[in-house]
Amino acid sequence: MDAGLFGGTFNPLHNGHIHIASHVKQQFHLSKIFFFPSATPPHKPDTNLAPARDRYAMVEKSLADMDGFQASDIELSRTGPSFTIDTIHAFAHRHGPDTNFFLLMGTDAFFDTPSWKKHKAIFGAVPIIVVPRRAPVQKNAVASFLDENISKGYTWDTAKKQFFHGRLQPIYICHVPIIDISSTMIRSRVKHHLPIKGLVPSPVEEIISKRNLYL
Ligand code: ATP
Repeated sequence: MDAGLFGGTFNPLHNGHIHIASHVKQQFHLSKIFFFPSATPPHKPDTNLAPARDRYAMVEKSLADMDGFQASDIELSRTGPSFTIDTIHAFAHRHGPDTNFFLLMGTDAFFDTPSWKKHKAIFGAVPIIVVPRRAPVQKNAVASFLDENISKGYTWDTAKKQFFHGRLQPIYICHVPIIDISSTMIRSRVKHHLPIKGLVPSPVEEIISKRNLYL
């Protein structure tokens, strides 16, 4: 089976996350996408970080009725900072060789990968699906990023809409309509007592209100 891995702080989960995951699932014919909230995000020291269990509960309750989406607490069960390469190995170990994983991320996260632990190993371990965040993905920008930060030798394959490399895994560009929602925006709206209906799944709204998050 082909499955997606979608990591994030999910502080909180919002409809932008759901929107891109739905498009990727459909376009790449994935059987499933695992959403895994990070326990201690190494890159986002955030004073308004909701407890991991609340962020997980928001993901789990929201995805419960959505076909082919599953919450995973794989990073919450580990102690210390969450590193994506360890998570990829843990998923591979748990699911065995019959599952092909694809890592899904927005352009902001993708261009930030050089600051991640063993980031080059990630590019060797799983194909990456990049989705636009705030602006369409610029193929040339991705090409120079890969050349300067990951490895020389990626070539663009127009038919397959992927950057191909003989030794590393392919990088796919997925064209998804841009949706201007972020967790930062949701936290700010909650803090200013503005409605978040339609921006987040309803279980997220309920948990934020019940647990007095982001005030
Ligand atoms: P924050 O505003 O706190 O930085 P966020 O909205 O970026 O949070 P994360 O949980 O950090 O949410 O994001 C997880 C992944 O989802 C990242 O790969 C990010 O690029 C992607 N993502 C989040 N929101 C969108 C969106 N609106 N469009 C495309 N990708 C998105």
